[in-house]
Amino acid sequence: MKKGNISVQTENIFPIIKKFLYSDQEIFLRELVSNAIDATSKLKAMARKGEYKGALGDLTIDVIIDKDAKTLTIRDQGIGMSQEEVMKYLNQVAFSSASDFLEKYKDDINIIGHFGLGFYSAFMVADKVVVETRSCKKGEKAVTWICAGNPEYEIGESDKEIRGTDIILHISEDSSEFLEENRIEELLNKYCKFLPYPIRFGTKKEFVSEGEGEDAEQKEVEVDNIINETEPAWKKQPSDLTDEDYKAFYDKLYPFSPPPLFWIHLNIDYPFNLTGILYFPKLNNGLEVQRNKIQLYSNQVYVTDDVKEIVPEFLTLLHGVIDSPDIPLNVSRSYLQSDSNVRKITGYITKKVADKLHELYKKERESFESKWEDLGVFIKYGMISDEKFHERAIKFALLQNVDGDFTPVEEYKDKVKELQTDKHNKVVFLYTNQPDHHDSFIQSAKQRGYDVLKFDTIIDNHYMQHLEHKLGDVTFVRVDSDTVDNLVQKDEETESVLSEKDQEKVKTYFEKVVSENPGTMVQLKPLSPEDDPVVITRPEFMRRMKEMQAVQGGGMDLPDSLQVVVNTNHPLVSGKLVRAKSEERREEIASYLYNLALLNQQMLKGSDLTAFVKKSLDMLSK
Ligand code: ADP
Repeated sequence: MKKGNISVQTENIFPIIKKFLYSDQEIFLRELVSNAIDATSKLKAMARKGEYKGALGDLTIDVIIDKDAKTLTIRDQGIGMSQEEVMKYLNQVAFSSASDFLEKYKDDINIIGHFGLGFYSAFMVADKVVVETRSCKKGEKAVTWICAGNPEYEIGESDKEIRGTDIILHISEDSSEFLEENRIEELLNKYCKFLPYPIRFGTKKEFVSEGEGEDAEQKEVEVDNIINETEPAWKKQPSDLTDEDYKAFYDKLYPFSPPPLFWIHLNIDYPFNLTGILYFPKLNNGLEVQRNKIQLYSNQVYVTDDVKEIVPEFLTLLHGVIDSPDIPLNVSRSYLQSDSNVRKITGYITKKVADKLHELYKKERESFESKWEDLGVFIKYGMISDEKFHERAIKFALLQNVDGDFTPVEEYKDKVKELQTDKHNKVVFLYTNQPDHHDSFIQSAKQRGYDVLKFDTIIDNHYMQHLEHKLGDVTFVRVDSDTVDNLVQKDEETESVLSEKDQEKVKTYFEKVVSENPGTMVQLKPLSPEDDPVVITRPEFMRRMKEMQAVQGGGMDLPDSLQVVVNTNHPLVSGKLVRAKSEERREEIASYLYNLALLNQQMLKGSDLTAFVKKSLDMLSK
């Protein structure tokens, strides 16, 4: 055995490794298994080029726990290293790149946690690391390299017979969790599930049937416990995959989740390399779906499920896998955002998602509509938050009316323009957020030939404002915000059949009736005799103010501002009320009509409702 010193400037690296990497020690396993994979791929490449002429044999990588010896071994049958290579790669390359890396990122523990240090991350969990390796090159001797967590190492001959490398970690006292099978299996499942060569972690028991028919017997056998799927779906050609394959892969990624609505297979090699599958999950009309579901891989090695910087915010609603060796992993986050490659990737993914939605819209309109409840939330969110996506999505973003008909935005505007343009030349999009609640308003609007949209998801308030802003000449008006004659404000005047004097009187009765409710105003209007005698509306502007305040929180609580509109042309007002014998009777009628209007909008509650029912029963029995 020879002794040596690793190198001077790295004197302090071990304490630094321990200190800074403590929070994410587990990545050592990913780093070492990745190295084993690299060594295996390199051997394959050499064989392909004829530089390696021997038999490749079994290329399985083993991860082995020896509890008695307190070691964890990662064993590959890849290219191995000669003594010269060990000196160069482990002492110089690995060490200097590790120390450079730490020097650069020691203040950014997040980065270190994510991107590791290669070989030297072994020292996060091991007191001593032994490398036994035999190069694939003919004539090279096997080598042992031992390093006990300080800059000194020993190197010498090894009796290792088979090609490849064993990395033997003597696990330190405070890292003993890495001698537990469950823990290692968990980590292998997290980081190595889709690596391109088989990773074996001991054996497992499996049941197989022996014999045929009734004589068949279940027999327990020991089989290799292979952790990974070496050819994950995203690496295959879309033409080689069926819908069932895509669904099965989804199930593998997210066991027990409801099946996805559809998916997009990403596959590009210029100007950057990116593969992956993005799935649309069922959103169930909400945004509370779990984020952090897209997994980022680099050459099939799991990196992170935090893809905020790479995928536009609204796309984090999607699930699935992105794999790109071109996403720079070893740079800081702020840099990542300004990296032009990353921006291109972001743009590409957005475009792909929009294209796929557009294609679905064109080719499978019915299915697109049936999925609108889930898709809509996503598309609206995307349009609001991403300018580019808006431009694409405006072609297939649908509006749904209260009868369940779907129309794309622009087409809808043309459809309603004629009847629903107001005096300011804006096209009025009437909508309801509670179709049941607003039924009487909806019916009146329909009688006028108006169309009423359903805007009832949590994102719709924002979406509405977004569309008003983007379309410019459209204004959204909730169907209960005014009386039907005025929903689409036009310069129409109708005459009241009542004299001014009678109108004054009618107004005072109603004002008396509503006097206990702050924020409630009485207004007289000569509507059609067929319209309701009293209609309660919530002016659009005041309501939006109140909603905005509720969202922002704080400030004083504005009272509900309600308009009690009395139809002076309705016979119950112009006739019955005005001509009633006594003052008392007139007030009684006004009160009754007001309560009826409240009832119509489910605003009559509690003791008021009880009193109203009682009064109605009394009236009927008279
Ligand atoms: P990186 O893998 O990023 O190059 P590492 O510190 O992980 O850095 O490893 C340094 C070098 O050591 C590798 O580039 C490789 O040449 C060599 N090496 C590490 N592990 C193995 C292995 N299992 N088989 C062969 N060579 C290896």
